[in-house]
Amino acid sequence: MSNNSLPELGTRRGLMLVLSSPSGAGKTTLSRMLLAADPAIAMSVSATTRAPRKGEVEGQDYFFVSANQFHDMAKHGAFLEHATVFDNHYGTPKEPVMMALAKGHDVLFDIDWQGTQQLRQQAGDDLVSIFVLPPSHDELERRLRARAQDADDVVAARMARAGNEISHWAEYDYVVVNDTLEHALEKVRTILAAERMKRGRQTGIPAFVSKLIG
Ligand code: 5GP
Repeated sequence: MSNNSLPELGTRRGLMLVLSSPSGAGKTTLSRMLLAADPAIAMSVSATTRAPRKGEVEGQDYFFVSANQFHDMAKHGAFLEHATVFDNHYGTPKEPVMMALAKGHDVLFDIDWQGTQQLRQQAGDDLVSIFVLPPSHDELERRLRARAQDADDVVAARMARAGNEISHWAEYDYVVVNDTLEHALEKVRTILAAERMKRGRQTGIPAFVSKLIG
């Protein structure tokens, strides 16, 4: 019997899925693959004061804003969380997330450990956090260089910061080593599938059980 004939079984509380990693671990590609594979997920698009990289699209990769605009948004409570990373400001606009969750979508966040801590305080059990690790130190460095979108000194600075970001791995619910994107995607989708089945998220179950037992 399909969920269509059991409408209450289809009701589910949306979850907030966080992917964090040092830059160069493949998290952005992984996020894109996950979104393409699963239409029930909406991506949270952050606001940032950093300059757009080549190929980045306004409103799709980020909302690129000035420092003044960013501070205004923060002052007016427009962010669910915000943090400073590599001397730039990053923040998660609140309204689109709330709207997506209200529609029953899950929301994916590509944010750092500081943002994850703030979201955890606000969202509690609605948050599922995954830390993505590169398969080795050398591979992390190679991926950072291969990107070649940032100047050499920026790459070196990011490599130095990677250690700091990685030191927060134990604050996450899950850890996925990104050896190949296909493996990593499969692991993330498995986590998501299990988390969606959690009792507390299946809000239609009490009504369904009442009918079952009369
Ligand atoms: P990048 O500049 O490489 O796109 O991102 C740098 C770091 O900032 C990444 O670790 C990314 O996850 C993080 N980041 C991006 N958007 C946000 C955000 O809205 N909040 C927080 N806390 N971190 C973010």
